[in-house]
Order: sequence, then C-alpha cells, then structure tokens
Amino acid sequence: MEKYSAFGLLRHALSGHRRWPQVWRSAELKPNYDAVVIGGGGHGLATAYYLAKEHGITNVAVLEKGWLGGGNTGRNTAVSRSNYFYPESTRFFEHSLKRFETMGRDLNYNIMFTQGGVLSLAFSRHEMEIFRRWATAIQVQGVDCRVMGREEVSEAVPLLNMSPHARYRVYGGFMQQRGGISRHDAVAWAYARAASSLGVDIIQNCEVTGLNISDGAVRGVQTTLGTIRTSKLAMAVAGHSSVVAGMAGIKLPIVSQCLQAMVSEPIKPCFDHVVMSPQVHCYVSQSDRGELVIGGGADTHPSYGQRGNLPTTESVLNAVTEMYPAFSRLKLMRQWGGIVDITPDASPIVSKTPVNGFYISAGWGTGGYKAIPAGGETLAYTMAHDRAHPLVEPFSLARFAQGRLVDESAAAGVAH
Ligand SMILES: Cc1cc2nc3c(=O)[nH]c(=O)nc-3n(C[C@H](O)[C@H](O)[C@H](O)COP(=O)(O)OP(=O)(O)OC[C@H]3O[C@@H](n4cnc5c(N)ncnc54)[C@H](O)[C@@H]3O)c2cc1C
Repeated sequence: MEKYSAFGLLRHALSGHRRWPQVWRSAELKPNYDAVVIGGGGHGLATAYYLAKEHGITNVAVLEKGWLGGGNTGRNTAVSRSNYFYPESTRFFEHSLKRFETMGRDLNYNIMFTQGGVLSLAFSRHEMEIFRRWATAIQVQGVDCRVMGREEVSEAVPLLNMSPHARYRVYGGFMQQRGGISRHDAVAWAYARAASSLGVDIIQNCEVTGLNISDGAVRGVQTTLGTIRTSKLAMAVAGHSSVVAGMAGIKLPIVSQCLQAMVSEPIKPCFDHVVMSPQVHCYVSQSDRGELVIGGGADTHPSYGQRGNLPTTESVLNAVTEMYPAFSRLKLMRQWGGIVDITPDASPIVSKTPVNGFYISAGWGTGGYKAIPAGGETLAYTMAHDRAHPLVEPFSLARFAQGRLVDESAAAGVAH
C-alpha cells in the first residue's frame, strides 16, 4: 500500500493522478463464495471486513447495485453518539462509538472524527425532567453525559435564540461530549480498502434480483451479473430491506420513509457541537468545510422516492430559523434524501432468520451510521458462528413476535 505523504500528494497532483493507486481491487465475480453480503454501504463493507479479519472467512463478495456508499452511508449527517436509553442499546452504541474513536488508527484511514459533543435541547420543564432521568440511565451504564441548565446551554451555543419570548423556549439540555461527526464516505472507503486487502471481492453495479433457497436453506443469489453459489448470505440494504427480505419470503416489520438533510453555504466556524432538538424536529452541526449540516424528522408517508417532500424541508428550515435567527440570512446549497427503514421500536434488527444461512442487518432507521463498526462486527460474528453475537441478542427478528421490544423512539433524536 502506498505511503501517503505531502510529497506523494503533490506528485500525484502534478502527474494528473495517472498512477494514483486504486483504493480497493477491481474484482471479477466468482461463481462460488463462502459468504456473500448484499449491500455496499457501511454495514455491508464492515461485515465483510470483520468476516475476513476476525473469523478468517476471506472468500467473500460484497454485491452493490450502485456504487459504494451511494445509499444512506453517503447521505447521512454523520452524527455518532451512544446516549440511548435502554442498557442493551447503550451497550451496543457505546461499543460502536469506541470503534469510531480508534477507526482512523485501526484502518489507517483519516475519517475526520471530531468529538465536539452532541447536545440535546429541552423545551419544557417536563422534557427537562425526562432528560434528567435519561441522563441518569446513561450514566449508570458508565457512559459520559451531563445535564446542562439554560445558562450553560446559552454559553455553549451563543447563536441560539434564548429569548424568554422565543417560540421554542430553551429550558436546558444534556450533552454527550464524546459524540461528534466524521466523514461518512471515508468510513465506507476505509472498510472497503481494508476488506479488499484481506481478499474480499467488492462488486459494484451488481444488483441482487433473487435468492436461491431450497429445503429451508440458502444456496445462492441471482444477480444482474449472473448466479452465485453460497451457503452464507447477509443483507445490509437499508432502504430496501423489505424488498430483499421479501425475496426470501420474509415479511419485515419495517416502514420505508424518506429522511432529508441539507447544507447551507459555508461560513466561518461558529458552531462547535451537534445540537439536536428532538421536540422541534431539527438538528444542526457545522462541517469542516464550514457548511451548516441540517437534518430533521422523516417525511410523514412511506415512500421509496429518494428526494424528500417540500413541506418537510420547509418545516425543518422554519425550526432552524426560529431557533437560530442569524441563519435565516444564509443560502441553502443542497438538499437530498435517503430511504430509511424504520421498525416499530426504532431499534435495529441484526439477526438470523427462519431461512438457514440467511442473516439480516436492517431497521437502522435514522441512526445506523453510528452503528457501522458494531453492526458489521456483530453481523460477521452471527454469520460465522450461526449464533447471535451477545451485543445483538436483544435485537433479533423474533423479538417482534415475542413482544420483547426495545423502544428507543425517544432516543432516536428525530421524529418518525
Ligand atoms: C438524511 C439522512 C441522515 C442521517 N443521519 C444519520 C446520522 O447523523 N447518524 C446516524 O447514525 N445515522 C444517520 N442516518 C442513517 C444512516 O445513514 C443509515 O442507518 C446507515 O447509513 C445504513 O447503512 P447501511 O450500510 O445499512 O445502508 P446503505 O448505506 O443504504 O447501503 C445499502 C446499500 O445496499 C444497496 N442495495 C439495495 N438493494 C440492493 C440489491 N438488491 N442488490 C445489491 N445492492 C443493493 C444500495 O444501493 C446501498 O448502497 C441518516 C440517514 C439519512 C438518509
């Protein structure tokens, strides 16, 4: 692997990038694999990497119908945090956050992870009371989190409208200082390069169109590039979870909705934290390029349209300009959407399925970017051992039939 130095960058720039090394190998699709992962987003790539690295299963293909990271992994607002409410969720997301903290070193790739803190705002005394309980529940798990009063919030976010007459009057909030943002494409590319160097074949422009299943077990997949035989198959296809699970005759308790994000024109650094407003349905951070990155609640109706509807855009921006009046003078540069797969308890599904050898990673909804390292690691373990990794035992597909829901709707941070 080439060493990246300032001199190397200059040399490549001056030579028109002619000898710029490929980040991952161009692989030819083989007719047989020990394991196949459908979906070249962060979860699929991380799963392939951990299969190879932790379990020695290197004859693996990742099949992506478009381009790597072209799904939600390249469309999100890149927030990582572990301040969920229930112990099983906190444990899982804290594990993932720790992996984010060392990912740059572990994968030798700069993912630009900045831990500026994630602050959630409360807009009523009642919400503040819930936040205190929530913060205590998190602290009991040994995860960093502190409750902040109105004055402290005002100091931390000077541009916030703190007027007592503000439409959204701030009562206080709670902060997870280790939360932050990173570069989402870099996370996908880091896992792709690491997996590829361990022997994983990454195949783009290869859509899975059907599954070969007989006697209750997976035998292979049909793709636009031909049929592949395998006895271990996983799907990590976010917005299209119900479609691919449907190929195995499995009906998922999932609704697919569009979730939007948008960015402003770039401005000087003025916003240190990710500031979330769960009741008002908007959140804001500032990227390294200076753009304000804005997100909100999901569109209100199920859809596979990856664009988002205007009323949702307007309501998110109304909230932003009410809360940060100075931002009303900024131009909006881009807006986009991704299809998120939402479960009834807003918790993920990482699980075996009724079909032997078929595994599923789905239901990440509005919050699966932060879960990429732990999601990949636990799915790889589940595939290798045909047994759920202890961290994802609570997140089985069977929990919906058994009524063991892990309701994290409040901790999702935005409305769905
Ligand atoms: C606007 C927005 C903001 C978000 N913000 C955050 C955030 O701040 N923090 C956070 O934690 N999460 C966030 N999320 C959620 C997060 O992006 C997702 O949960 C996560 O990226 C899911 O990753 P994935 O690898 O499972 O799916 P994806 O990245 O969507 O990858 C799935 C891949 O599967 C491919 N695929 C689908 N069907 C097939 C097929 N039949 N054959 C082959 N390939 C197929 C798709 O092309 C796609 O590339 C946000 C999402 C959106 C849309």
